[in-house]
Amino acid sequence: MVKVDIKYTKLFINNEWVDAVSKKTFPTINPQDENVITNVAEGDKADIDIAVAAARKAFHRYSNWRTMDASRRGMLLLKLAELIESQARYLAELETLDCGKPVKIAEEEVYYSTSVLRYYAGKADKILGSTIPADGDVLSMTLKEPVGVCAQIIPWNYPIPMLSWKIAPALAAGCTVVLKPAEQTPLTALAIGALIKEAGFPPGVVNIVPGYGHTAGAALTHHPDVDKVAFTGSTEVGKLILGAAPVANLKRVTLELGGKSPLVVFNDADVEKAAQIAHAAAFANGGQCCCAGTRTYVQAGVYDQFVTKAAEIARNRCVGDPFDDVQQGPQIDKEMYNKVLSYIEAGRAEGARCVAGGGKLDRKGYYVQPTVFADVKDDMKIAREEIFGPVQSVFKFDTFEEVIDRANDTNYGLGAGVITNDITTALTFAKHVRAGSVWINTYDHVSSQTPFGGFKDSGLGRELGEDGINQYLEIKTVTVALPKIPLL
Ligand code: NAD
Repeated sequence: MVKVDIKYTKLFINNEWVDAVSKKTFPTINPQDENVITNVAEGDKADIDIAVAAARKAFHRYSNWRTMDASRRGMLLLKLAELIESQARYLAELETLDCGKPVKIAEEEVYYSTSVLRYYAGKADKILGSTIPADGDVLSMTLKEPVGVCAQIIPWNYPIPMLSWKIAPALAAGCTVVLKPAEQTPLTALAIGALIKEAGFPPGVVNIVPGYGHTAGAALTHHPDVDKVAFTGSTEVGKLILGAAPVANLKRVTLELGGKSPLVVFNDADVEKAAQIAHAAAFANGGQCCCAGTRTYVQAGVYDQFVTKAAEIARNRCVGDPFDDVQQGPQIDKEMYNKVLSYIEAGRAEGARCVAGGGKLDRKGYYVQPTVFADVKDDMKIAREEIFGPVQSVFKFDTFEEVIDRANDTNYGLGAGVITNDITTALTFAKHVRAGSVWINTYDHVSSQTPFGGFKDSGLGRELGEDGINQYLEIKTVTVALPKIPLL
């Protein structure tokens, strides 16, 4: 077992490390061996009140932060990216310890996250309003201003990337932040808190309060002095937040929620390549990915060949100690582990054909075998509900019109994929599928520059790209009287 030094376990408020008001702590568990890694200060309503007050003070019109040049805000984000990069290996190891993802992938995610910080660093001094030829004897213009104090609540599946998606556009826009990491994975957010201070962000601009969702999270989403809530997590909690956010004041809300994304393979596809793409779509991050392509629709002409190949790739997937060179580590916690295993049981019970995996690994920790079900029917539980684990469901289809209807027959709408060599088929699919991201002959390609988010129950608003920063800006229209008569 790799020894990882844990330096920060307290709340990060006003650039200081503090205990929770209650003095309570909670354990964070290593999913690899089920042991307690360490105990972390447990934020609750009283701590959220202090953190929000700090963020509000930092947002005051004459604060260092609000009077800082926009280009300087960008420089601070660049500095943060540089500091994170300088600790990439350490942060990756800490992430692997806390959430079980392979360390090689965790390290790639650290670098990816710095690209998000750098993208938004470049945007900080390019937030432009417009001049508008309004009716009347006036000159009208728009100013884009930071929305204010932002509550940002993130999940455990991509802790560092999710932190970067949240704080980078908010800080580039000039907002202040209270971030609550997931209770399963608080450690890397706290380590980055130290780097935020080192980069030179003024006190109160970013505050990090670990704690549970129903306590610290709920206190944030109900707080009357929070202007905006940005949440990534389950659709169930997203709906609760949408209900809670306007209670005390009309908060702006963006939600990135769950999915049950389809990936469609047409007869003309190269089956070997299609099976590889579909495998990555379903199994990336152990299936713990909101846009995982877990519903694989395969056209009848290549169906049998595809199923054989998909099963073979899944059986060869390397699962094990995430500090070794593996493709998949353990699932995040006991609850998710049991949930995934119960879905596998449901698949068998409803008559789907299990062609790979189908159970847990015979070792300590929350390890699940990469599992492939063939001959899945649209009304089965494994076809309809988000599993959030390494389980791929393969369905047979005959025609384009049939598969587009079946692909859209879900409450979710986060991602979708199509594999074909026919450009018309690909683009017609992209046009008719109801999802926020469509990938053609690839899957899960998400970059800083392009918007990401969901249709239907998969969310509200977009993150990343130009659209991502717009969610942190208010538009103010300024109109000046300019009489058309000559001035005396
Ligand atoms: P979750 O919704 O239980 O928790 C996510 C976060 O919300 C955690 O920080 C948690 O503490 C907090 N939370 C929980 N209850 C809360 C409440 N009542 N008020 C405020 N905050 C609360 O989700 P999870 O099980 O941790 O994560 C998995 C889910 O997240 C999956 O459904 C997945 O699809 C979704 N997800 C979506 C995206 C995306 O970008 N769309 C990304 C990652 C995960």
